Amino acid sequence: MGKVWFVGAGPGDPDLITVKGRDLIAGAGAILFAGSLVSEAAMRWAPAGCVIADSKDMALAEITAWLVEQAQTNAIVVRLQTGDPALFGALIEVTQPLDAAGVDVGVVPGVSSAMAAAAAAVETLTLPEVTQTVILTRVAGRTPMPAGESLQELAQHHCTLCVFLSITLLQQVVEDLRAAGWRDDAAILVVHKASWPGEEKIIRGTLTDIRDKCRAEKIASQAMIIASPALGARHWPQLKKSKLYDATFTHRFRRASE
Ligand code: SAH
Repeated sequence: MGKVWFVGAGPGDPDLITVKGRDLIAGAGAILFAGSLVSEAAMRWAPAGCVIADSKDMALAEITAWLVEQAQTNAIVVRLQTGDPALFGALIEVTQPLDAAGVDVGVVPGVSSAMAAAAAAVETLTLPEVTQTVILTRVAGRTPMPAGESLQELAQHHCTLCVFLSITLLQQVVEDLRAAGWRDDAAILVVHKASWPGEEKIIRGTLTDIRDKCRAEKIASQAMIIASPALGARHWPQLKKSKLYDATFTHRFRRASE
């Protein structure tokens, strides 16, 4: 009996898969990928003769049945997912039936689209004395939000918010931030297809105009919304610097110089 590996394929650019993930693909007997987003990585590194299938039209039971069946004859079976498998990836829904079938599972982390969006825009999600917390969340769609996790409640922390799966609900996002006390001129970043070669779009706006800007650019899917008091810090004249590189600060690897 083989092992099923849940591999994070990264946010879109095939080069952003980990070396471990790529090596598993290169040694895989079967690969099940999640829609067009990650097909490229599978095609690029899969060995000749590897069975490759798209799960886009499969229901959960079909996905698990496929993985269990392939694990009977292949030492390495890869379930390739976008970004990181632990974020909005239905990981446990699939591992539970595999556990029940006695199939060994492993997970290889991936570069999440939240990180790729920040990278695309040359933004930091944490900044000393501005925000030291990042919330990865979404607004309710067909999946309801658990009690205490509405965006309006989370936004009251005024830290960095990375909002997944919500670009079609951007108006809701804006209203929730306003209700939590964010100013009309608070900076908002939307990145569409972060890291996708030639397709990435970076839209910068404020609570007031981000919706019109996204509409003008026809952004209706595959977008990360980032609200953060650290946005735009690259251009701030005055920064509170990280203690780690402060010349007067001693830590384990370096003595203070004064
Ligand atoms: N596990 C994935 C998230 C899957 S949920 C991860 O870690 O990134 C799908 C949502 O992720 C999309 O609705 C969108 O908000 C975001 N997303 C995925 N790929 C993206 C990309 N390349 N650029 C911007 N957002 C992306």
